[in-house]
Order: sequence, then structure tokens, then C-alpha cells
Amino acid sequence: FTQSNNQSAHLALDIGGTLIKMVYFSSNHNCSSDTHVERSLEETNDISHGLEKYHSGKGRLHFVKFETTKINDCLEFISSNQLSTHGDAPDKKQHSAGARNLIKATGGGAFKFAELFMERLGIILDKVDEMDCLVAGANFLLKANNQEAFTYMNGHKEYLQIDHNDMYPYLLVNIGSGVSMIKVEGDEKFERVSGTSVGGGTFWGLGKLLTNCKSFSFDDLLKLSQEGNNRVIDMLVGDIYGGLDYSKIGLSSTTIASSFGKAISENKELEDYRPEDMARSLLRMISNNIGQISYLNALRFGLKRIFFGGFFIRGHEFTMDTISVAVDFWSKGEAKAMFLRHEGFLGALGAYTSYQK
Ligand code: ADP
Repeated sequence: FTQSNNQSAHLALDIGGTLIKMVYFSSNHNCSSDTHVERSLEETNDISHGLEKYHSGKGRLHFVKFETTKINDCLEFISSNQLSTHGDAPDKKQHSAGARNLIKATGGGAFKFAELFMERLGIILDKVDEMDCLVAGANFLLKANNQEAFTYMNGHKEYLQIDHNDMYPYLLVNIGSGVSMIKVEGDEKFERVSGTSVGGGTFWGLGKLLTNCKSFSFDDLLKLSQEGNNRVIDMLVGDIYGGLDYSKIGLSSTTIASSFGKAISENKELEDYRPEDMARSLLRMISNNIGQISYLNALRFGLKRIFFGGFFIRGHEFTMDTISVAVDFWSKGEAKAMFLRHEGFLGALGAYTSYQK
């Protein structure tokens, strides 16, 4: 990897509260076997193609993630794959004296860890705004990748052809540790209109506490939720109506009336509930809530299309299904929830495309 000047992209970072997302370009086809690498090369052909103008020569784009608490793994990865222009731990003075080891970086960690990158790798993190990057990443993907956006409902996944001339406006909902809702009206025309702190970090954090499985990774918790039954702990309409629907206002007996509501009416301790049931109720509660707030914001601005991104979704069927059903239910079928294949990498891709600015 050689980077002759700071306008030639090959590596960009999005350092979030929970995860570090990295996008890098390489002409070496053999470096995707690392466990941190998220996406296979084949999947990203379209995108690599779309990004050709950003780098010279042929190669592929790689998508990698690390937990932010394990930032040392990330530094090690950059160093051992020689992604940093001037190699490992170069002399600090050399860089402050004008060397061009600038890496585009977004997310709060671009500020928090700036010194660490400088000290350990001699990298200057060239900060790019988080919202700018999310929107740039989403717009880029929607235009560059034919198989990017899809709907998912009742077990049915369908890819959508996005008309580039009729993409806007839309609501972008990024579900990371927290949630941002952005009204996007054009290439660089957007406004963050809402958000909620009840997001992916809440699911993972509260999930760990409730299930008492401290060593659980996010994926473990997600897997656990798949085996659970939320009806054990959620209070359903049928629980209140003696098994009946409340059909007058369109609520079936299985609609959740109160998430975790059954826990109050029974003489049970936390240990009496199965971790899988609690994980499921929690996932349902958070996904439903985000779906509903998203729809209300779409309604506020007359937006019919809602794209969901962020690492929380993780291509997980139950999560997508819950969000889709929430949007469908509250909008009476008017609005559509859509998901993005590179959901977690919007910010990192946006940072990558900012090299040309
Ligand atoms: P941020 O930029 O705030 O870190 P992300 O878009 O990276 O946000 O999403 C982080 C969230 O994604 C976590 O809070 C968690 O809910 C979820 N997540 C998905 N996969 C993982 C994983 N492997 N490790 C940790 N969190 C994950």
C-alpha cells in the first residue's frame, strides 16, 4: 500500500461508542481471512466498482469491525496489514513535520482516540462529521449497489431497485449504540430530526444485566433471543381481555400491551425467567419502539420511505420483522421499512468517500 498524497483513499474509520468500523481498499486479494473481516470480497464487487474513482488500480474493498473497547486489536490490524502509510509506530516528530499520514475518521472516537492513533501508529485522524458521513454512505450505497436495499416482512426478503432520480426524500434511521433519525432530501441536504437513546447499546447492556450472562457477546444474545418466547414475560392484550382480541381498535389478542408487564403480576424473581425469553422480550420492545418512533417522524415530514442502518440490525430476521411490522401497523401500510445490506458501514463508507472532497 502506498499513498502518494492525502487525496488517495485506502482506509477510513468510523469509531463509535460500541464498534469501530473500518473500510479499506487493497489490491491484495488474500487478506480477508482475518476473523475481524465482516464481508466477503465477492459481495462487495458492485461497491468496489462504484468506488473506483477514489483509488487508482484494481483491488477490492474490505469491511472490518472491532469492539471499541478492544481498540488495540484495531491498531494491531492496521499495523500488521500495513494499512498505515508510513508503517508501524514511526517517529512522532516526523509526522508533525508534515508527513501525509492522514486517515479519514468519523464518530466520537475520532476525537477520543486521536492521540492514541498518533502515538501508536503515527496516524493523524482527519475528522469528518458523523451525520455527513452517515448520509453520504447511505446515498452512495443506494446509488452504487444494485442489491443494497431490501424489505423484510413475514419471512420474505425482497431486494428493491432504487430509482436514482427518485431517491429523495427519505428518513434514515441509524441504530447504533443510540439511534439517529435523519431526514435526507438530497446529496448533502439533510437534517437530524430525532433520535432515541433506547438503541443497540440498550439491548446489549440491559440484555447482559437481565440474563446475567456477562461474557455474552452481542451475537450470543441475539441467538439466545431466537430461542425465547416473549409471551412469558410481556403482558398481551389477550392476558387483559381473557384471551380475546380488542378488535374495536384493531388489537389482536397477541399484541403486546405492556412489554415486561407480566413480571409485576407474578410472584417471581429474575432467576425464574429464562434468559432466552427476556432477551426476546427486550429485542421486541426495543425494535418495536424504534419502528414506531421512526414512523412518527416519517409522518411529521410526509416521508414514505424509511431506511434502517446501524450495526444493531445485523441482518437479523426477527429484528427486521419487528421493525417492519411496527412501521406497517402504525402507518396502516402507507410507509415502508427498508434495510441496507451494508447497514453497519454507512459512516465508514461516508468517511471513505470524503477523500475526494
Ligand atoms: P456505534 O457507532 O454507536 O458503535 P454501531 O452502528 O456500530 O454503533 O452499532 C453498535 C450496536 O450494534 C451495539 O450496541 C449492538 O447493539 C450492535 N452489535 C451488532 N453486532 C455487534 C457486535 N459484534 N458487537 C457489539 N455490538 C454489536
